[in-house]
Amino acid sequence: MHTDLVAALDIGGTKIAGALVDGRGRILVRAQRATPAREDGDTVMGAVEEVLAELRASALWSGATAVGIGSAGPVDASAGTVSPVNVPGWRAYPLVERVRAATGGLPVELIGDGVAITAAEHWQGAARGHDNALCMVVSTGVGGGLVLGGRLHPGPTGNAGHIGHISVDLDGDPCPCGARGCVERIASGPNIARRALEGGWRPGPDGDTSAAAVAAAARAGDPVALASFERAAQALAAGIAATATLVEIDIAVIGGGVGKAGEILFTPLRAALRNYATLSFVQRLTVAPAQTGTDAGLVGAAAAVLTRTPATTVAGVGG
Ligand SMILES: [Zn+2]
Repeated sequence: MHTDLVAALDIGGTKIAGALVDGRGRILVRAQRATPAREDGDTVMGAVEEVLAELRASALWSGATAVGIGSAGPVDASAGTVSPVNVPGWRAYPLVERVRAATGGLPVELIGDGVAITAAEHWQGAARGHDNALCMVVSTGVGGGLVLGGRLHPGPTGNAGHIGHISVDLDGDPCPCGARGCVERIASGPNIARRALEGGWRPGPDGDTSAAAVAAAARAGDPVALASFERAAQALAAGIAATATLVEIDIAVIGGGVGKAGEILFTPLRAALRNYATLSFVQRLTVAPAQTGTDAGLVGAAAAVLTRTPATTVAGVGG
């Protein structure tokens, strides 16, 4: 329905991607820089400004009506600031104000990267047609976002749905966030690999100790590798079941590198869900792998501005 053209930014600890995206989610122009993540805040912003300058050089730029930003978190959409864990030069950094200034005053909407991927999956991926969904990214960390009542639910600061830091093991291992037994502490790729190594799994001749290597070993029948994925699946299931019980989602979509492990993850995940999602109204909950690819962050950031209501436009601009 939309014919709008918007600019989108996907800001992570490794790269800063930008695009002009049309109302059907097609990427018409792209630009990208490496994130100078160890540099000071203004140097990082300089890379963002270079990406925006490249987009502005396009003949299509004049049609852009707004900017959507999906950023590594934490973000604070209400303040327009970001404090990405992996970009120490940015702490409460006024990203929205700076992007607005670099784009001639366009309205700017900021969301967390997990929320952006949720927007993309709801628009074009596995959550399409679902009015109540949890979308997760399971990779180096575990993030997520929610669709409730047919709409993206970023929450006041843009971080709602951050399932990675729900505790599912009350006295479990300390998590870098300060809590214990978080979903991320059990189910992230590095923790799947760590647990397999602690259990006696050894990598092949290539020395690859990534979660993908553990997944390959699990597929070949290695019991320690299988057990590590089963434990991750159990943690994810407990977090998903808790979310479903709280807000009545009917699908959980899992993306990220660990989500690509396939049935090594999904078979024990479905089994564990039967143990944790027990009440009548959550028993029909399904899980599915994500369908959107490497452009999900850009497409989701665009979706966040294309589908916003006038009220959230005002909030996103900072009022
Ligand atoms: Zn945590």
